Amino acid sequence: MSNAKAPLPNNPEGIDQDQFLTVLSREQALARFEAALFPRPVPAESQLLADALGRVLAGDVVAPIDVPPFDRSNVDGFAVRSADLAMAGEAAPVRLMLNDEVIACGTAPARPVLSGTATSIATGGPVPRGADAIVMVEHTQPAGPRAIEIRRAASPGQFVSYAGSDIARGEALLRAGTLIGSREIGMLAACGISQVPVARAPRVAVISTGDELVQPGKPLRPAAIYDTNGAIVTAAVSENGGEAVFLGAIADDESQLEAAMREALAASDMLVLSGGTSKGAGDLSHRIIARLGKPGIIAHGVALKPGKPLCLAVCDGKPVVILPGFPTSAMFTFHDMIVPVLRRMAGLPPRSDARVTAKVPVRIASELGRTEFVMVSLVEGDGGLIAYPSGKGSGAITSFAQADGFLKIDALADQMPAGTEAEVTLFTPHVRVPDLVIVGSHCTGLDLVTAPLARAGLVVRSIAVGSLGGLAAARRGECDFAPIHLFDEKSESYNTPYLADGLELVPGWRRMQGIVFRKGDKRFEGLSAQAAVRAALADPACIMVNRNQGAGTRILIDRLLGDIRPDGYWNQPRSHNAVAAAVAQHRADWGMTIAPVAQAAGLGFIPLAEEHYDFALVTARKQRPAVQAFLKALASDEGRAALVSAGFRPV
Ligand code: AMP
Ligand code: MG
Repeated sequence: MSNAKAPLPNNPEGIDQDQFLTVLSREQALARFEAALFPRPVPAESQLLADALGRVLAGDVVAPIDVPPFDRSNVDGFAVRSADLAMAGEAAPVRLMLNDEVIACGTAPARPVLSGTATSIATGGPVPRGADAIVMVEHTQPAGPRAIEIRRAASPGQFVSYAGSDIARGEALLRAGTLIGSREIGMLAACGISQVPVARAPRVAVISTGDELVQPGKPLRPAAIYDTNGAIVTAAVSENGGEAVFLGAIADDESQLEAAMREALAASDMLVLSGGTSKGAGDLSHRIIARLGKPGIIAHGVALKPGKPLCLAVCDGKPVVILPGFPTSAMFTFHDMIVPVLRRMAGLPPRSDARVTAKVPVRIASELGRTEFVMVSLVEGDGGLIAYPSGKGSGAITSFAQADGFLKIDALADQMPAGTEAEVTLFTPHVRVPDLVIVGSHCTGLDLVTAPLARAGLVVRSIAVGSLGGLAAARRGECDFAPIHLFDEKSESYNTPYLADGLELVPGWRRMQGIVFRKGDKRFEGLSAQAAVRAALADPACIMVNRNQGAGTRILIDRLLGDIRPDGYWNQPRSHNAVAAAVAQHRADWGMTIAPVAQAAGLGFIPLAEEHYDFALVTARKQRPAVQAFLKALASDEGRAALVSAGFRPV
């Protein structure tokens, strides 16, 4: 916020805008937001039953008629007076004369059933005057042309559905707030209702903000990213009873953004923006909101993690929200703070998310004073479900793909201790615990080997936590195996020295490591690795990209460099892909990565040494069918061929 001292136009007291930087608790913020918006009527419209599927009832529906509308026979048979059959038995057949009519479905009876008579009636036919029971045709015998014989008694009401026994006239059939599905449509149709009052879905305008945003489907220019929030928020609005109108991404330009926000708000019931809430120079939306209408900003800064920069406002009765830019933060704050308000506006009851209890295997640190949401993956442990934290930080979107749900750490707690039985809110009601759990270092080769398992209907969960994290999980028995590529300098060997009791090594594949450079760079092309590094060191303009301490690749680099520390040495990303990206984007001229990554990035590659990518298998889990299926896929011709064509060397 650049100009914090200017009083807000909507702020008669001239209170400094800094007051809005006061961080409210989650509960305070939600209470103030709701107090500024409710009560308000849910706008309703009349909808033809045929088009009402998926809509929400705006009012209670009272049954206008009885269903069934008359006393109805449940079977094919004869309408009788039960008193006539009181003495009937195997040895005492009762003979009844047949009345001269047959009551078919949809035929109103014309003649009464007098004592000593019966009328033939079909399933669904109206019970005639005088009759009080139905005798099944199977329990009768013809006795001459116009009579039947019955050898058992009939109780009053036998095989009769009374008028109103299904739905009684005047009964509350469906309540306001009910989501109309096929069952509800059936009940309404049975009562003859052809039009229902439904809530008019609130129109929610969705705008992404940021100079860096590109819509999916368009080419990505340098330094740009794809607009993720636009798609997330649009879908989440629809999921919660709103009608989303996505207006695209607007650049960080005050007048452009203000025009877009005014137009959007005028045409809708609610406006949801994302981005621009942290206090960078480009953060304009909250300044604009202050001019959009009263009372304006309700909360800017909420004690949530992720999601602190959330901004809540009400402008002339309409909610205006700015979600944090990071997609996971945007999604959590939307679900936690905006969904309750949206559902109320849409006439829907509060969301009822499915929950399970699961044990947290590791201590989760948490910031004191902020309600923290932690995404978790569920795996089956010996004593029940285990909730594995899968967050990669608020910038990561893939944590969602791995996560089954999230747990909440109270604002007053600074951690959740290992072993806590935590309540996990599920993202979908039908969580399926994976058949195969892989925790450790991820490799694209792994996806090739597990492909046949997925095709066979097995759910494979791969949680990327690095080699050491995977080993720890394997030792705790929380996964089936951990993929690792750990180099032991003392023994100059891979992986085996790192195994612990209860773990065994399953050989995986080799990944050729080498120098990457941009194709056509004469400093490297055609040289050996050693010569290429000499050439790089001889050119003072040449910049390298290194790897993090502890990576096997880093050891190779250090051996090539000796004690020379060239420009770029301190740039130490943690993955093979980050090295390739740095070189491809001209942030560095060379680095060391693995062949498949270089190949996928279209870079030149000089091979140097092979890295061993193996599996630390939890021996106790070896006989599980999914583990056996994995081992089979790993050894199969198909699996090996797929690895080879991606640039790996199976062993
Ligand atoms: P901001 O709040 O605008 O400073 O954004 C914080 C971070 O979220 C930046 O890294 C943005 O690039 C990113 N971000 C903002 N909006 C989006 C979006 N719609 N989709 C994906 N990332 C976004
Ligand atoms: Mg931004």
